[in-house]
Amino acid sequence: MDSHPTKLDYYADMWRLRSESTIVSFLKGDDGRSALVLDSTIFHPQGGGQPADTGFIAVGDQELKFVVEDVRLRDGIVYHYGYVETLAGDGAVESETGKEVRLHVDESRRKLNSRLHSAGHLLDICMKNVGLGLEPGKGYHFPDGPFVEYKGVIPPSEISNKQKELETEANALISKGGEVAVALLPYDEAVEECGGSLPDYIPKESTPRIVKLGTNPGCPCGGTHVHNLSEIISMKVSQIRTKKGVTKVSYTVG
Ligand SMILES: [Zn+2]
Repeated sequence: MDSHPTKLDYYADMWRLRSESTIVSFLKGDDGRSALVLDSTIFHPQGGGQPADTGFIAVGDQELKFVVEDVRLRDGIVYHYGYVETLAGDGAVESETGKEVRLHVDESRRKLNSRLHSAGHLLDICMKNVGLGLEPGKGYHFPDGPFVEYKGVIPPSEISNKQKELETEANALISKGGEVAVALLPYDEAVEECGGSLPDYIPKESTPRIVKLGTNPGCPCGGTHVHNLSEIISMKVSQIRTKKGVTKVSYTVG
């Protein structure tokens, strides 16, 4: 099959929920699922702690509809997993290579994912603002219990106060609002925008995608976000737990 990387349209426009593309291939996976590979996509694949988008892809004159249940990115190629919802059956899609399709991302799921994901970034900023300079590690921004892990610990006697401070700070920043911007930047410029350094996993020759919340320092990220911090609506810091040198901060959005 064509191993050309899928163009990630959500990189340039995180808020587009409809787009057009063409079919590259239609595959049957080892696990029995069908996968549609397109030239470009606005569907966000699962990754970076953010769940996959769902929705559907209309083929041709909409007689064929491919329902997207899951989306994964492997070696630069985005696989839309799902099933064909027409009388024509799966076989009809296989002959549609090169045909134009229209993509429809489920709006409510994407919006919740973008709010949860953006709240994770906001938490990083709040950690600094309340005097906890712990480095963010793993982030999990799924609706069933989102959290961010930080390297380092908070003394047990301070946890309760810091939990309240974090929540107060987060909601103050949400009330104030602030534009969320993303851009692909030359490496040196990205370093500057991110407060002087980038994580080691970002190659020096690359043009990393940098997200900035308001006037705060940016960070590299491949996810989707809200337009403005105010769209997070509200945030609750539900629990802080410290274990083996890692602090896990759980949160929810209102
Ligand atoms: Zn992000």
